[in-house]
Amino acid sequence: MNRHQLPVLNGHVAESSILTDGTRKKIHPADVRGRFLRARRLVFVALIALWLLLPVVRLGGHPALFLDVEHRRFFVFGATFNPQDFWLVFFLATGVGFGLVYATAVLGRVWCGWACPQTVFLEALFRPIERLVGGPREARLRGTPLPRRVLKHALYLVASAFVAHVFVSYFVSASSLAAMMRGAPSAHPEAFGWMLATTALFYGNFAFFREQTCVALCPYGRLQSVLIDDDSLVIGYDEARGEPRGKKGKTTGDCVDCNRCVVVCPTGIDIRNGLQMDCIACAQCVDACDEIMDKLDRPRGLVRYDSLRGLRGETRRILRPRVWLYTGLAALGLIVFFLAARSRTSFEATLVRQPGAPFSREPDGVRNGFFVHVVNKKAEARRYVIEAEPAEGLRFVVPVTEVDVGPLTDHRVPIFVSAPSDLRGRPTVRIRVRDDEEVRVVEATFLGGAP
Ligand code: SF4
Ligand code: SF4
Repeated sequence: MNRHQLPVLNGHVAESSILTDGTRKKIHPADVRGRFLRARRLVFVALIALWLLLPVVRLGGHPALFLDVEHRRFFVFGATFNPQDFWLVFFLATGVGFGLVYATAVLGRVWCGWACPQTVFLEALFRPIERLVGGPREARLRGTPLPRRVLKHALYLVASAFVAHVFVSYFVSASSLAAMMRGAPSAHPEAFGWMLATTALFYGNFAFFREQTCVALCPYGRLQSVLIDDDSLVIGYDEARGEPRGKKGKTTGDCVDCNRCVVVCPTGIDIRNGLQMDCIACAQCVDACDEIMDKLDRPRGLVRYDSLRGLRGETRRILRPRVWLYTGLAALGLIVFFLAARSRTSFEATLVRQPGAPFSREPDGVRNGFFVHVVNKKAEARRYVIEAEPAEGLRFVVPVTEVDVGPLTDHRVPIFVSAPSDLRGRPTVRIRVRDDEEVRVVEATFLGGAP
């Protein structure tokens, strides 16, 4: 089998944000213009708009996405889930996880370069602040004067606090967040603490740690060497066309060794050294090189989106065994999730034995005690009727025959079942629980009868 190994350095000295002695090289990517940057900016705007709208837009009377952990209820695009539905997350995570694996096998690190929150917030929010306050790359390389540095970090803090507030609103709802912001922090210390912690986290990440999250921390980034193969779409340098590199007119290669592709790279690598784990496929080097090729009146695409096979001049295969496998697994997870989510019931009922001895002997016979446990899975209060199904030899005492259960909460109703001491066997106890839409029959075994 043909195995591809990463990274491919081809004998050149490796460029990276982490130097060979383990120290970090500060990256100041140069500005770039081009079609991919324009397209990415549009995607960033759309994603940020979606991120801002999800906790605000209401579907079915609740925010489109509201993970109300405190009250253990979760509103997702009009559907309401409670902790009893948590098993669905397994299938959702399987479908989405294999969907990402599928996307990586076909499109490479499209997630990293175009949609990952790390990239979106860094490039759309924090990098523009840096450029606005610090000036062009040359000025930033010389060092930003102290007052401007202070201003830059103050703006970073404001941006981090903004991101943190929206993040917290997914867990407390936008309306509650607005009310909290008008009140004193002491009135809601937990939410305030979470907001401070996430602000600090975002500030540390976007002001200082930056590309190191991608190159050293992110587990998805570390998985690239197994997810990408020779047919995946990657950003690559056409070595056959570019080499031997050198000044215009001095060599036959198309690469004029201008280093533009290196200075625009947000992770500080040289794509001409081959595909590397640090490459987040942001396509900034593609735009940078295309600009140079335009100036030299040479065809674009010396650095381009292509597969490793395509860069070698071979034909790229889209459909291959691993793609079929990932497609099947992703589809399986998502189909099971949607079918299971659609078939969810509006309430759950179970018959559980009361704590203590499973039965007691009374002067008039044997007695078993149960609870009917009713879980209302709807976002509004419901009334449930509880009835015993008659059974030969069994006497039922149902002290509460109608119970009101609040939205997404549960309730236990005691039930007592008696039988004469000479009852033989282990008859089945059946209880009907119904609201105005559905009926459930829950069962348990009566214990203590004669053998
Ligand atoms: S090598 Fe190119 S695509 Fe990869 S991270 Fe650097 S600029 Fe982005
Ligand atoms: S931008 Fe293009 S021409 Fe310039 S060094 Fe990079 S690959 Fe060579």
